[in-house]
Amino acid sequence: MISAKPRERLRIAVQKSGRLTEASQDLLARCGLQFRQSRDKLFCFGESLAIDLLLVRDDDIPGLIAQGVCDLGIVGRNVLGEHSRAATTRDAGVAAQELVALGFGRCHLAIALPQEAEYTNPQSLSGARIATTYPALLAEWLERNGVSAEIVVLSGSVEIAPRLGTADAICDLVSSGATLAANQLREAAVVLESEAVLIGPQAMPADERGELRDLLLRRMDGVIQVRESKLVLLHVARSAVPAITRLLPNGQVPTITPVEGSPDDVSLQALCYGSITWQHLEEMKRAGASRLLVLPVEKMLA
Ligand code: ATP
Ligand code: ZN
Repeated sequence: MISAKPRERLRIAVQKSGRLTEASQDLLARCGLQFRQSRDKLFCFGESLAIDLLLVRDDDIPGLIAQGVCDLGIVGRNVLGEHSRAATTRDAGVAAQELVALGFGRCHLAIALPQEAEYTNPQSLSGARIATTYPALLAEWLERNGVSAEIVVLSGSVEIAPRLGTADAICDLVSSGATLAANQLREAAVVLESEAVLIGPQAMPADERGELRDLLLRRMDGVIQVRESKLVLLHVARSAVPAITRLLPNGQVPTITPVEGSPDDVSLQALCYGSITWQHLEEMKRAGASRLLVLPVEKMLA
């Protein structure tokens, strides 16, 4: 069932079980994809469109795309970055690129040191032993900053290396910083800002799979845009429309409709990207707006 042979169905690789799993599946569901899960829980057959899912470890996803086994994947930018820099000629294949930043799974790859260690700039790390599971990204950062340090490659539990005496510093993923604090470490420098990204080859042939991919990318853009979008409805005097338009946060050009029986008033409708606070509404009211309504947007197709 799983092969790199020519096929008509699009295949997306997502993390089987981990931090990105729930949000990835939620995103695909919002794009209208429905799946039937197989008994081995590795393959999900797409019922609404010819798009199937492969559930795997996140580290395998860039390689599956390079080999042509999958057409798209969802991984942290950190995983894509490490894979692209570490890729050897052996598994070169079709290089996976970042196609869309998805806005969840936010974290950063950072260098952290024991609380008491001194750090003024990257040069403070000269000669240090730095433990990480991201040797390629760390090596690139050290080179970019002209620092010569030793990279200690670990497969996990990086944060305890300084206490064990196997490293002087670490380079690991941080989101809240709680793990660092619990291990008496403090952040010194950011190597990479990360979030979940949709990856795939830069372009696909204009066949059925290519069309499916374009359709999914368009739906994904819509889902990402509506996440923070609000529709604002209000009534206002025609003369106050410019003032209201200026107050709409990241607003599009509003649609204006006449109000039956009140020739001086209009009904205004505008789509806004970004949150609308009470303060925004109060300012619009002061500028003459009434009957203000803010509605969430569920779907959007430009
Ligand atoms: P797998 O079993 O699939 O290999 P994993 O243990 O490598 O899973 P997770 O811990 O589930 O991976 O993390 C997946 C991704 O979530 C990371 O690569 C990263 O992009 C993102 N992430 C967000 N916050 C954090 C965090 N605090 N620590 C680690 N990863 C984070
Ligand atoms: Zn992993």
